[in-house]
Amino acid sequence: MNKNFALLVAAASIFASLACPAQQPPAAAPAALQAAPPAVTAIRAGKFIDVDKGRELDNQIILIRGSKIEAVGANVAIPEGAAIIDLSKMTVLPGLIDCHTHLADLADAEPLNVLQRSAVETAYAAIPNAAVTLLAGFTTVRDVGVYRALNDVAMRDAIARGLIIGPRMYVAGAYITISQGAGAMTGLAPDIQLPWDLHYGEANSPWEVRQKIRELAHRGADHIKILSTGAVLTHGSNPKSIEFTPEELRAAVEEAANFGMRVEAHAHAAEGIKNAIRAGVASIEHATLIDDEGIALAKQHGTYLDMDIYDEECIQSSGATPADFLQHDAELAEPQRRNFTKAVRAGVKMSFGTDAGVCPHGINARQFAFMVKYGMTPMQAIQSATVNAADLIGHPELFGSIAAGKSADIVAVNGNPLADIRELEHVHFVMKEGKVFKQDP
Ligand SMILES: [Zn+2]
Repeated sequence: MNKNFALLVAAASIFASLACPAQQPPAAAPAALQAAPPAVTAIRAGKFIDVDKGRELDNQIILIRGSKIEAVGANVAIPEGAAIIDLSKMTVLPGLIDCHTHLADLADAEPLNVLQRSAVETAYAAIPNAAVTLLAGFTTVRDVGVYRALNDVAMRDAIARGLIIGPRMYVAGAYITISQGAGAMTGLAPDIQLPWDLHYGEANSPWEVRQKIRELAHRGADHIKILSTGAVLTHGSNPKSIEFTPEELRAAVEEAANFGMRVEAHAHAAEGIKNAIRAGVASIEHATLIDDEGIALAKQHGTYLDMDIYDEECIQSSGATPADFLQHDAELAEPQRRNFTKAVRAGVKMSFGTDAGVCPHGINARQFAFMVKYGMTPMQAIQSATVNAADLIGHPELFGSIAAGKSADIVAVNGNPLADIRELEHVHFVMKEGKVFKQDP
């Protein structure tokens, strides 16, 4: 891809949004300016992936007014004066969605490195994570936790205001974790006192869980991330251990629902997965050691499995992965991929989540080829990152497919990803909310 061009487009769009802030027109703006209708753009799509119906169409026209899609079809009339974007030699599909990212953290193999930087240094260092994710074709992410609590809320809002570029973010605010648990900053001597934001989500009873969720709702979280079992990438943790009890998990789901929020549960161990499904979480993250009963329960409850089956490649190949993490990981990679195959065959709802940050940000799409290798059709893999992801996040009316009334979140690739899913690793066109962020010549 032509990086310089992409960055130019991105920079131009930042300046455009700074010059005309979306909030309020200045009081003195001429009446004609205030009344100006939003710009109209027509995209000519050579091939078009209709994820709602699971089919591929030829020669579609997508009409966009402002930030929204107005019409889609083969015979849509293009109004006079509309800007035309010619993607007639490309395959056009909805903006991709990753349901498991960590954009607002340092992308560092050693979590303790966060102690070497101030919160504000971490926030600046994380800006490129958001930019490369958008330019890779991911126009929305569900970001599922951050060590520096609320950095993700700030990043979401900075993107929404056009201060930095990145995907539309739905954020957790912090990790809800037991003390010294999977989402805690562990590996320190007991006499070290952490600042507030590095242990914000610690909770050790149903009532403490509720208290943290109430605070996070007040501080701007969109959803709640709870850690049901131990973790691979946490010092002193055992992925096979149970951390929160069923009672605590139920309290989390109930309290989150009081604020209109859903809960996602990190879980590797089979019992921890089942505890979380029974408690009513919306998705299981990793779902590594899910057993047959867990698969049946997920199907029965309509729980999504958000399985990061690619990042193993990065954990094992990165020279920087701490030795204890490699040990936790040793017996988990292949079982997770086998269980992914079982879950797909059983017809469990599946979403696309990579745990980006474990692998470098911006290579999220590499997981598609693994999803196909382990049992999905290319269409199912694309649906997991579009319609299914939008359903899991709770906004299928806003994004997830190219349809009238939805946000104009559109990407395009050369070739046909239904024939070669790896085409998605090279996205050549990215539009978010009607604005072009990348268009390779
Ligand atoms: Zn994660």
